[in-house]
Amino acid sequence: MSERVVNLCHELGLLILISTIISACGKQAESESNGKIKAISTITIINDIVKSIGGDKVEAVSICGVGVDPHTYHPKPSDPRLVAQSDIVFINGFGLEHWMEEMIKSAGGNKKVTTVTEGITPLTDEKGFGDPDPHAWFNIEYVKTYANNIAKSLSEIDPPNSAYYSANLSAYISKLDSLHNWAKEQTSQIPSDQRVLITSHDAFRYFGKAYGLEVKGLQGISTEAKVRTEDVKLLIDLIKDRKLKSVFVETSVNPKLLEQISSETNAKIGGSLYSDSIGNEGTEEGTYIGAVRHNVNTIVNSLK
Ligand SMILES: [Zn+2]
Repeated sequence: MSERVVNLCHELGLLILISTIISACGKQAESESNGKIKAISTITIINDIVKSIGGDKVEAVSICGVGVDPHTYHPKPSDPRLVAQSDIVFINGFGLEHWMEEMIKSAGGNKKVTTVTEGITPLTDEKGFGDPDPHAWFNIEYVKTYANNIAKSLSEIDPPNSAYYSANLSAYISKLDSLHNWAKEQTSQIPSDQRVLITSHDAFRYFGKAYGLEVKGLQGISTEAKVRTEDVKLLIDLIKDRKLKSVFVETSVNPKLLEQISSETNAKIGGSLYSDSIGNEGTEEGTYIGAVRHNVNTIVNSLK
């Protein structure tokens, strides 16, 4: 290529770049002027609850996408801007989103951040150093606290719509009440000798406590922890001793080790559970309520 042609190519490239930036700015201005509150949540579970309470007054976006493990998440280059441009940020807390602190700091000191677990006393990690267990969303009753905190914060930053948020909150709470009662009734059908839930990581301790199942995760409350050979052996022994029929993999965690444990015992893979993420948008499991229904049906069908 001659020098002139190369220069021309550079200029053309620059022109395309500039026009892309201009059109991106145009889109930005458009979404800022649509009058909706921009809410960022760290995980899809919280994002779905924000959508249920915020309805058409809120534009809700999750930083971790569907199927993404929040414990080991590395922020994308676009995440800090997303946080900086939002009106409000919802985090789970209890140590789940250690990668979020820096982004909130760099977004400026006046960013409104709501910890949706505020008011909940956490379970603590038995395998680790007494760290709080972040997976409080698997006690359906605790999700009422999540919903209350979200509605309160949305009303604070958008007072004209507070009656709207409060009506959505009431409707959502009654759905949670039915879900909780249904989950109790379903899980009560599991025979007492099979009431053990074995999963990839300890995401279901709140669930187990609320619905009467013993819970054993191969990893502790975070997938960051290394799997120890002795834990694999203990789990295999437990499955054999108790003649357990099923173990469960999770949609946001690599299933390999649990599949290996299943192959070394008589326990089959009972199915895939939603632990730290809900399912794809537009499917039944793409909501918190749908994901819990899927989990309960999968667990009960495999253990009863
Ligand atoms: Zn987890």
